[in-house]
Amino acid sequence: MNISHIEHIGIAVKNLNEAIKYYEDVLGLKCYSVEEVVDQKVKTAFFMVGQTKIELLESTSADGPIGKFIAKKGEGIHHLAFAVNDLQNSLDEVKSKNIILIDKKPKKGAEGLNIAFLHPKYTFGVLTEFCEKME
Ligand code: ZN
Repeated sequence: MNISHIEHIGIAVKNLNEAIKYYEDVLGLKCYSVEEVVDQKVKTAFFMVGQTKIELLESTSADGPIGKFIAKKGEGIHHLAFAVNDLQNSLDEVKSKNIILIDKKPKKGAEGLNIAFLHPKYTFGVLTEFCEKME
């Protein structure tokens, strides 16, 4: 396993436009991309902070993963994403160390990344994502 940096921090919000306003007007960051990920039932907005991104997530449906998360826990940090250079190998390695995976195989995420999630029950409560940049 070779984690190079924190790729992004995922934050669940109720209203993407209001949240974007806060990040732009108060924190002075610039939203460079808004993208809908139909599979995940989310609309995302991205901000660059050094080499790490902030990914805001608004649910497009109450029964999507972010909709359920907000209903249960409210708005806030949803997941932490590490950049890895070989996603499938990283997943196999983690699995061999008895960590349960939500995604056994990489799937397509926002920003053209391949992604996979580890189960938060096995990662001390932090929903953990691995992502690999596809060139
Ligand atoms: Zn993510």
